[in-house]
Amino acid sequence: MPDAASYVTAVAARDMAAKFNRSDFSRWAARARATGGCAQPIHLRGTVEYRDPMTGALLHRYSTSREPNGNLRVACKTRRASRCPACAEIYRADTYQLVRAGLVGGKGVAKTVAEHPAAFVTLTAPSFGPVHSRREMAGGEIAPCRPRRNSAPCPHGRRVSCTARHAVDDHRLGQPICPECFDYAGAVLWNAHAPELWRRFALAFRRYAAKAAGLRVGDLREVLTVSFAKVAEYQRRGLVHFHAVIRLDGAGGPDASPPAWATHELLAAAVDHAAGAVKVRTVAASGVPAKTHAWGSQIDVRAISSSGELTDNAVAGYIAKYATKAAECVGTLDRRVRPTDDVAELPVSAHARRLIAECIRLSGISEFATLRLAEWAHMLGFRGHFSTKSRRYSTTLGALREARMMHNEREHPATTGRLPFEDDEILVIAHWRYVGQGLTPGEMLLTAALTGKPLPAIRGIP
Ligand SMILES: [Zn+2]
Ligand SMILES: [Zn+2]
Ligand SMILES: [Zn+2]
Repeated sequence: MPDAASYVTAVAARDMAAKFNRSDFSRWAARARATGGCAQPIHLRGTVEYRDPMTGALLHRYSTSREPNGNLRVACKTRRASRCPACAEIYRADTYQLVRAGLVGGKGVAKTVAEHPAAFVTLTAPSFGPVHSRREMAGGEIAPCRPRRNSAPCPHGRRVSCTARHAVDDHRLGQPICPECFDYAGAVLWNAHAPELWRRFALAFRRYAAKAAGLRVGDLREVLTVSFAKVAEYQRRGLVHFHAVIRLDGAGGPDASPPAWATHELLAAAVDHAAGAVKVRTVAASGVPAKTHAWGSQIDVRAISSSGELTDNAVAGYIAKYATKAAECVGTLDRRVRPTDDVAELPVSAHARRLIAECIRLSGISEFATLRLAEWAHMLGFRGHFSTKSRRYSTTLGALREARMMHNEREHPATTGRLPFEDDEILVIAHWRYVGQGLTPGEMLLTAALTGKPLPAIRGIP
């Protein structure tokens, strides 16, 4: 008897063959290429009219009715590799360019920015209970996880000790040694307040820099701009942490030299001070004790240079890689938890299930209502942005996208066909309607074959 996977594969192959034999296949294939191999394209219906701005005469009309199935497919542009590897790759490459431009110049940023003090900073969460972990010792050997020979058992009768040297893919990594001892409420509330901790960190950083220069904080911007680009990443224990590039510029931003007192040493001291100084308090409610949330003690500040231990290219690469990951890397969902979902049945790890359940539980307590924890349960409470940058850091993703779109439209004028006139002299009237999203398994296989882009996981196909 055929198993489920070969059944799904056979259905996908039949679906693929049917698509291939259709008369509009070449048009379909051209769109699959134009979306860059997007695995979950958005389907639009509508028209675009090009009119003479003086006379109103119709010069050209594009309608999706001539497209396969009457739909135009456009790329989803997600940053999440688990949903669409092709679009996430574009997002990663753009983020790399954006971060790199802020370190070495280019994309409209002066090359002299490379001389400004810049550091790669990691701010982590504190401990909410011992978890299985993997640490590499000097020399590359893996240290035992948490050896405690004579530790008393925890209140749940477990010895909070683990002598395993965990492999990188060990599913126990990040899972609590005693789940009953793990402070789930604390962990979820910390995730929910991480964006606020970052905001307070950035303020404390500026206050420290101002004080060091003998200025009032309000006057700092007259001489110094603190620019940053940051990404959030989940650790396996389900807590978010931040990686950031922090750079010191003059008052005009990346094109202006910072004052002489704004050194690497000042930058490092300001990070240390600000990370240790900021706190957010949450009140006691319904059995959850009052808590003070702060950064964990593992704070890392490393100077970035073009040739030293930590190069600008390496930093741009790290940040870009983290930017396409989301909470699903810790074994949670890559979508919202719906009110109809049974949390016990969700395909997630035991630890993620408890974090999700805790979000839902705390969402019912009025003191935590503003945190919208049920809505953000799949993110384990974190509702911030994954990658953000200050206005003056470098270029924007929007600008990079627009440059690429202009290039693509010149290369494959797929939407409109070649226009018989210069496009800046005309009036464009567009009407679009969203009609759906996604590809059938067969279309997905064909898209991957046509574009050479990786596939996301298809349910039922290993
Ligand atoms: Zn996509
Ligand atoms: Zn362990
Ligand atoms: Zn315990």
